[in-house]
Amino acid sequence: MASVTLSKVRKNYGVVQVLQEVDLSIGDGEFVVLVGPSGCGKSTLLRMIAGLEEVSGGEIRIGERVVNDVAPKDRDIAMVFQSYALYPHMDVGKNMGFSLMLKKIEKSAIASRVDSAAKRLGLNSYLERLPRQLSGGQRQRVAMGRAIVRDPKVFLFDEPLSNLDAKLRVHMRAEVKALHQQLRTTSVYVTHDQIEAMTMADRIVVMNDGVVQQVGAPLELYDRPANLFVAGFIGSPGMNFLPATFAKGGKADAVLSDGQKLRLPDGLPLKDGDRITVGLRPEHIKLDAEDGLRAEVEVVEPLGLSTQFYAKLAGLDLCVFAMGRPTVKPGESVTLSADPAALHIFDLESGNRL
Ligand code: ADP
Ligand code: MG
Repeated sequence: MASVTLSKVRKNYGVVQVLQEVDLSIGDGEFVVLVGPSGCGKSTLLRMIAGLEEVSGGEIRIGERVVNDVAPKDRDIAMVFQSYALYPHMDVGKNMGFSLMLKKIEKSAIASRVDSAAKRLGLNSYLERLPRQLSGGQRQRVAMGRAIVRDPKVFLFDEPLSNLDAKLRVHMRAEVKALHQQLRTTSVYVTHDQIEAMTMADRIVVMNDGVVQQVGAPLELYDRPANLFVAGFIGSPGMNFLPATFAKGGKADAVLSDGQKLRLPDGLPLKDGDRITVGLRPEHIKLDAEDGLRAEVEVVEPLGLSTQFYAKLAGLDLCVFAMGRPTVKPGESVTLSADPAALHIFDLESGNRL
């Protein structure tokens, strides 16, 4: 096993810079998820760690060794892709053992490593099947088995579950996580799906436009997003954003565009008239407050365990999440409030957390 360290890593294609200086330390045995919208540079970063993509600037280390100029096969990594990239004419056992055969490892040793990986993945009764005789989930397991038998220092995953249907994806993400808990191999996992990131990661790296936005444990990002991008990207249903003006009368308030006021926490580094964005998670909005914001309910979504509804507030669509089955109806006026301590306050212009 090994740590992975990126120092000022850059990537450009011609004049187009797709990754700005990335600094990142991944600990030995850690499971780190790179997450961000399509095109933000996740795969490029992963492929640079794998050695499949040249580094334009900066340094990548696996353990203590600088690997910028080390060939992929000598980096002691194993990669699992979205397209399982299995050899169609080889059965499961041969697919899993193939890289070891290339390394001229003894047949009996290959068989025992394939056997042990197959047992771990529940594939032992499928060893003689061809890939086309397997389901999507089983194929993805073979792809993981192929990585496991190599006993690499680092696993690199690029959206490995994206080809599976929703239910299987939920199942497989738990499997990958359980596997990591057994093997404890340093893992870098790329996904565009923030729920996958939240459920699987020890630490998440949120990226946008080739720039790392924030690095932290899942709940750190959820509870203290560094900027509007992270605040909007992490969490489902997403955080509500209300543009407002800061007013310090008796206590600190955010004045919304329709003049309604929302009490803010004390001690914000703001002065009268400063423009801010107030972030409000749907589950932190309380219904039927005595003294609160008036809003009009537009759509109600009963989910059984919980209820989600959308209300118009100061011309904006606000999403509210409540446990149980509150009796709200479309067209109805409601009064909403939130604990000042649960609010997220951002500078309107920079989008940075205050
Ligand atoms: P992600 O995996 O986050 O969806 P990628 O790392 O694949 O994003 O791509 C990041 C950016 O780099 C994208 O804007 C993409 O168009 C660009 N890009 C990727 N490969 C090349 C290439 N070979 N030449 C030019 N631009 C590229
Ligand atoms: Mg990608």
